[in-house]
Amino acid sequence: MQFRDLHAQYEALKPEIDAGIQAVIDSSAFILGKPVTELENRLAEYVGRKHCVGVANGTDALQLALMIWGIGPGDAVFTSDFTYFASAGTSSILGATPVLVDIDLATFNMSPDALEAQIQRVLAEGILTPRMVIPVDLFGQPADYDRILPIAEKYGLKVLEDGAQGFGGSIRGKMVCSFGDISTTSFFPAKPLGCYGDGGAVFTDDDDVDVRLRSLRAQGKSPVDKYDNREIGMNSRLDTLQAAILLPKLRAFVEHEIDDVNRVAGWYTERLRGRFTTPTVLPGFVSSWAQYTILLENKTVRDEVQKKLKENGIPSMVYYPRGLHQQEAYRWMNLSDVLYPNTIVATQRVLSLPMHPYLKEEEVDRICGVLLDQ
Ligand SMILES: *Cc1c(COP(=O)(O)O)cnc(C)c1O
Repeated sequence: MQFRDLHAQYEALKPEIDAGIQAVIDSSAFILGKPVTELENRLAEYVGRKHCVGVANGTDALQLALMIWGIGPGDAVFTSDFTYFASAGTSSILGATPVLVDIDLATFNMSPDALEAQIQRVLAEGILTPRMVIPVDLFGQPADYDRILPIAEKYGLKVLEDGAQGFGGSIRGKMVCSFGDISTTSFFPAKPLGCYGDGGAVFTDDDDVDVRLRSLRAQGKSPVDKYDNREIGMNSRLDTLQAAILLPKLRAFVEHEIDDVNRVAGWYTERLRGRFTTPTVLPGFVSSWAQYTILLENKTVRDEVQKKLKENGIPSMVYYPRGLHQQEAYRWMNLSDVLYPNTIVATQRVLSLPMHPYLKEEEVDRICGVLLDQ
């Protein structure tokens, strides 16, 4: 059994994916070929935004967004403590200071109350300037934008939505990657919409930001002359090959995969509810189920359950074994566990189960059989 079965999806889409790859090779337009533009247009339409800019990966997407606002030394960038490293690391690369925020244990997403407390603490300290907040749509569920957006507005912070895991999710019909002033996603193979290598995208409704992003992903070039460099940029474009692979994958994603993963999540929850803490999806929210994550009683039980699954040939993962405040790279910030009680609990008790749109009900039965047989 696979944790995320990418091959089953390839088998289902093989003729279109193979034809797309061959067409790119035949065209020799490997950099910013037609499929990139076509994909950008479809992605923008799908999430309901004016512009989408394809970039090399989800990390660069975050960094480019931060560069748009000139984030740098002295700036405070608020993000979740319980996420993939890039949500914070990209601020550090630019010399800004990530300010880590504890989570809500029910959703694993940034706690709006903890966010406001951290903003007030930074303001009271008077050393850093609060500039922006990066909510993360963790495990597929949108962050609590109903509460986070008003807090950002109250303190004059820009919002950068890290939708790397949440792509395909929504709140009352409004799609992930439409909530931030700028939003980003990743097409890393195991993400909800993945390609066959690295890839990412940035979304905005602002025409000027769109123009600058297209410049910044290509060494800060002018729109008309590639050897006229106007500002310091990166080399970060989405490969034409990856765009060609993503086009049929996006169609399947929209047509049925989001429904399919939600059906799989339903099967799990039906069977596990009562015996385990199953994931909470807020009313009106739809998850794209990047992960299906349960909470066990404590670390000892979690580790035992993971071992038992493994003995039965069932892969599972601990996302994440430590909070960002516990990372060696951030030891210099000297952040106490006391500030992050929910992150600590999550790191000790979470377990993510196999999850993908091609998972069969019999497989869910087998996984749950092992889990329930304690
Ligand atoms: C994967 C991920 C990223 C980075 O994406 P890459 O394409 O791997 O660079 C950023 N944020 C979150 C929350 C992620 O899960």
